[in-house]
Amino acid sequence: MNDKSQNSFDSNVGFICDLTVVKLGKKLRILGYDVEIVKSSNMATIENVVKTKNIKKLLITKSRELARKLSGILVLSNNVSEQIEEVLSKIQSTARGNPRCSECNAELIECSKEDIVGKVPTYIFESFERFKHCPKCGKIFWEGSHFKFRGVWNLAKTKDFKLRRGESK
Ligand SMILES: [Zn+2]
Repeated sequence: MNDKSQNSFDSNVGFICDLTVVKLGKKLRILGYDVEIVKSSNMATIENVVKTKNIKKLLITKSRELARKLSGILVLSNNVSEQIEEVLSKIQSTARGNPRCSECNAELIECSKEDIVGKVPTYIFESFERFKHCPKCGKIFWEGSHFKFRGVWNLAKTKDFKLRRGESK
């Protein structure tokens, strides 16, 4: 997938997150990085994924052995915000692409408020103006402010939410 919309973002930069850093991988996707999440920490499996990629993707892991053997980024913290800082301090460029779906890595698409009437909780609908959705799985994201990194989109809790279209509080 080529990303022509970002002038300074190198579309060949991406990450592979193993089982030890799944949450971090999802956050990095929302921050605009191309992240492949591999739910394994098996050396052979991870090595295979890293080596069969024709585009450069850096492994991120909490496993010292994997990081050393596959020239990956070793994260030490158990806190996701701190892990993001660790990763960003180790890569050269801070430029990123468009926000991606935390679940399936597809680039999010802007949508209007009318499109999401009844699909997100009322307080989210009323408190925020900008929404995006995933073209692949349909999940809706809103631009929030509680996370310390700028430009982070939050996955709206759409599951089990049964507000009918047009209905208000
Ligand atoms: Zn998705």
